[in-house]
Amino acid sequence: MDARVSGTRLALELGDITEQRVDAIVNAANTTLLGGGGVDGAIHRRGGPAILEECKAIVARQGGCPTGEAVITTGGRLPARFVIHTVGPVWSGGRRGEDDLLAAAYRNSLRLASERDLTTIAFPSISTGAYRFPIERAAGIALSTVAGMLRAGGHHVAEVRFVLFTDYDLAVYHRALERLAQEERR
Ligand code: ADP
Repeated sequence: MDARVSGTRLALELGDITEQRVDAIVNAANTTLLGGGGVDGAIHRRGGPAILEECKAIVARQGGCPTGEAVITTGGRLPARFVIHTVGPVWSGGRRGEDDLLAAAYRNSLRLASERDLTTIAFPSISTGAYRFPIERAAGIALSTVAGMLRAGGHHVAEVRFVLFTDYDLAVYHRALERLAQEERR
């Protein structure tokens, strides 16, 4: 399924983020930037050691990546040219600023992509795996944050793709995108 927001394609797909042939895929990383499970593990496995080497250089320079922020490396052996590593919040009940931190992770990733003039970007569902952010809530935040950035303009992004790992996750994002489209029509 896809939609258009101010001329940019917003697409939802079932698949594996490491297989996306786009300018940049986004990694659901952790603050150490030194690898982990889930999306992070898959990206480093498939992308090879060059990505971790660059992450280590970033750590040496700035000491990791705070929650809600993002950094960029090359894509190593991945089909994607770049990897944007962002850190979503760990869910701990919803009263510790998790919503805002999740929005910041999407916003800062997209900002980095647009600063580099990248035009196609693929996101996984940040924070909804090991970090246990409820996916119904996360999907609404992900889509409305990205749509808001796209509407604000000042970028060359032609496509933002959300790559969901299960049919269930895809269905949740699908419903969230329909809600967003309804709100836009009002
Ligand atoms: P976090 O630590 O931010 O929660 P995870 O990597 O644990 O990140 O999970 C984020 C989401 O990505 C989960 O919904 C998980 O099922 C999904 N996922 C795991 N591996 C992949 C992959 N290779 N491609 C796309 N999505 C994936």
